[in-house]
Amino acid sequence: MSRHLAWILLKPIFILKPITSLIVTSHQRKIIHVDADAFYASVEMQQNPALTKVPVAVGGKPDRRGVIATCNYIARQFGVRSAMPAAHALRLCPDLVFVTPNFPLYKQVSARMHDIFGRYTSLIEPLSLDEAYLDVSQCTDFQGSATRIANAIRGDVKRELGITVSAGVAPNKFLAKIASDWRKPNGTFVITPDEVEAFVLELDVSKINGVGKVTSQKLAHMGIQTCADILAYDAKRLTEKFGKQGHRLIQLANGVDERPVQTSRIRKSLSVEHTYSNDIANESEIQERTLSLLDELRERVERSKMSKLVAKRVVKVKFHDFTQTTLEKRLASHQEDWDDKQAYQAMISEAWKRSSKPVRLLGIGVAFNQGLASGMSTQLDLFTSAPKDGATNEAPTDSISSDTTAPKDKIDS
Ligand SMILES: [Mg+2]
Repeated sequence: MSRHLAWILLKPIFILKPITSLIVTSHQRKIIHVDADAFYASVEMQQNPALTKVPVAVGGKPDRRGVIATCNYIARQFGVRSAMPAAHALRLCPDLVFVTPNFPLYKQVSARMHDIFGRYTSLIEPLSLDEAYLDVSQCTDFQGSATRIANAIRGDVKRELGITVSAGVAPNKFLAKIASDWRKPNGTFVITPDEVEAFVLELDVSKINGVGKVTSQKLAHMGIQTCADILAYDAKRLTEKFGKQGHRLIQLANGVDERPVQTSRIRKSLSVEHTYSNDIANESEIQERTLSLLDELRERVERSKMSKLVAKRVVKVKFHDFTQTTLEKRLASHQEDWDDKQAYQAMISEAWKRSSKPVRLLGIGVAFNQGLASGMSTQLDLFTSAPKDGATNEAPTDSISSDTTAPKDKIDS
């Protein structure tokens, strides 16, 4: 705090602006940028292990003058890249295997990946199917260690979805995004608040998200290669040349980026579940377990600040033979407490008695009022939501929907 005060005293001219930033930065933020490695190609390799040992490109066939959407790391060794014409890629790598994109599948895997993020924070900003910013500043898992949260997410994704993701951990979005690229593939790179200054000074301007070819060439002509060069350059001349972008470049070169993580998604449901090491075979134990799940669920719903929007209770029972059943019931009225113990216990019993077999997993959750949620904005279903009921829901039940138009952090227009 004292640093901010000193700064304000030294720079009285900027007093209006820093007052808001003082509030925003009064606690150190912890942002994670998660980015799947060669996402489409990884999903294809996960589906078809024969592809794991060969160069793979997802996207247009060379005879149709197509363009490559993504390629795996083997293909990259040959110089193949995303957005490259397929015919050119084939010249670089004659054994390249082309796979037609399967977007419904990628969306499904993406939804499950975002469900995993949702276990750690509700502040998620999706950028694309395979990329998101997470604000974990308030997260209490792992004593609040963002690095360990990032690694836990990477572990969950690898274990449950069979693909790898990389993560960048930093005090803001700008640096987190750069960091996620630093140890790719399958790595975590952390920039602590203390390291920000040194890291940024050495940073090549072309690494700044939004500084494209045109801007970096212009900057190069001005002798600007790194962020240190930006700071050394006359600020007035820089802003004359680049206008608003110039201001932003100076801010970023100082390691400052106060854009919040914007959750454009609307949560449709929230649930907790537990797989037991020994199957549970009697009803009273099932009832007991339901109550401890309810405690966990209550905490999550409170944290989501959506308890007033609960419309339905949901339960899931998976039996020892991996068959499962789900049940959902609408609350009788808005006055009814959503977290009523008896109501959940009765539902779990009802679901269990459909088979009355030993139980390996119990889950309970809530579904939120979609009428209220959808009224908030025009939300498009980027992420497929988990099935509402039926016997074969393997996907995690925390389903979300989100805007397909992710905000772009472009400096080049
Ligand atoms: Mg990616």
